[in-house]
Amino acid sequence: MADRDLDEGLDSDIAARVRRTPLVDTHEHLVEESSRTDWKPGGMITCDDWSVLFMHYIDSDLIVAGMPPADRAALTSPDLDTRRKWQMLEPWWPAVRNTGYGLAVRFAVEALYGIRDLNGTTVKLMEDRYRTTVKPGFYKRLLTTIAGIESCQVNSLEKPFMPTAQPTLLMQDISLLSLHSPEQWRANAEHANMRVSDLGDYHAVLDWWFATYGPYAVAVKTQAAYGRRLDFEDVPAEAAAPIFTRLVEGGQISPPERKKLEDHLFWYGVRKATAMNLPVKLHTGYYAGHNGMPMDRVAANPSDVTEILRRAPDTTFVIMHIGYPFWQEMVAIAKHWHNAVIDMCWAWIIDPASSVRFLQTFLTTAPCNKVLTFGGDFIPVEPVVGHSMVARRGIALALTGLVRDGWMSRPQAVELVETLMRGNARRIFRLADKARLLENAPWLKQEWPTRTS
Ligand SMILES: [Zn+2]
Repeated sequence: MADRDLDEGLDSDIAARVRRTPLVDTHEHLVEESSRTDWKPGGMITCDDWSVLFMHYIDSDLIVAGMPPADRAALTSPDLDTRRKWQMLEPWWPAVRNTGYGLAVRFAVEALYGIRDLNGTTVKLMEDRYRTTVKPGFYKRLLTTIAGIESCQVNSLEKPFMPTAQPTLLMQDISLLSLHSPEQWRANAEHANMRVSDLGDYHAVLDWWFATYGPYAVAVKTQAAYGRRLDFEDVPAEAAAPIFTRLVEGGQISPPERKKLEDHLFWYGVRKATAMNLPVKLHTGYYAGHNGMPMDRVAANPSDVTEILRRAPDTTFVIMHIGYPFWQEMVAIAKHWHNAVIDMCWAWIIDPASSVRFLQTFLTTAPCNKVLTFGGDFIPVEPVVGHSMVARRGIALALTGLVRDGWMSRPQAVELVETLMRGNARRIFRLADKARLLENAPWLKQEWPTRTS
């Protein structure tokens, strides 16, 4: 879509301010740029051609629309040529091109490759333009120059903390999930080069992780909600210790014992994060993928989260993905709890129209300093560009509607843009301090990690 279409129905003052204000992107899963420019099979990015734009999120829409899973796998395999890939995509594309996932792809294809209508002819153009785009420096060009993103926050799916080659562009979360999952104890201890025989030893391992990576991280993040309720009980060390010892000695632990141990490790990590001023990001709401989401567990997220908020008044919790589809509950939570921040990451492309309503509801209900408005949430970088365009249009639409309906004045709406698009993120994650430190990230100069004790 050209700028003209993206501005359809928008107040021109608001649209202009949104267009020229940089975004802070609070959630991505981007792989390192080098694993794109020096692509090899076997990594998270399964091929090195235009179909990379179809490997994340839109693939789930394609499958639930009816695309055979074997065709979906073939679509992003390294083995097929463009003609055959398009033959597989073509029958299903009309069913998904208007979803949020489809919009992120279409906007990206137009912004990056100048292609407005994807079809059997233009896909060959896309094949060429994909190739000329992917070269050293392309992350910065796509994210900053084209999408207007000043920094990202990456939750690496490859390492619990990624010592990235671009630390001020790709700021990093520490994976709290890796640290609180009982099954990860050995890998975490080996990484720290520490011997573990009991829970006290393992606490020292977790302390090492925070001491080593905490200063350079922007937050900690857990997506535990994909596998369990968020009913983390504050299990004391004395109750968790015998279970941990049995695990280390190779014994069996029951599911209730595993939960007890994980609950203990979760709170241990939350307290460490809080002591280092790191917000705790919690996945809530909708599940990525398809044919697997237990809605009763997702529906329990808001009530489980309130118990977490009550237990840790000094911790800032970032509640991700607006708890979709339970976003009204999350607005109520942000209004009621001082330590709750709601993050719209991913939401614009799960449900663009509801995300506009969410932002309007939030801004007339809860304090405006407790909302974050963009996170692309992608593994490949290209669709982040499209997602940012959906988000900019959505933010401008939400503010335009609030002005039109008389809930705020135009100058008030224009003034809010800076707060929403980057001011809140800069403050909540202390990004100026982090950027100063990351300009001299130690892993760029020396072997990393170095033992701190
Ligand atoms: Zn994510």
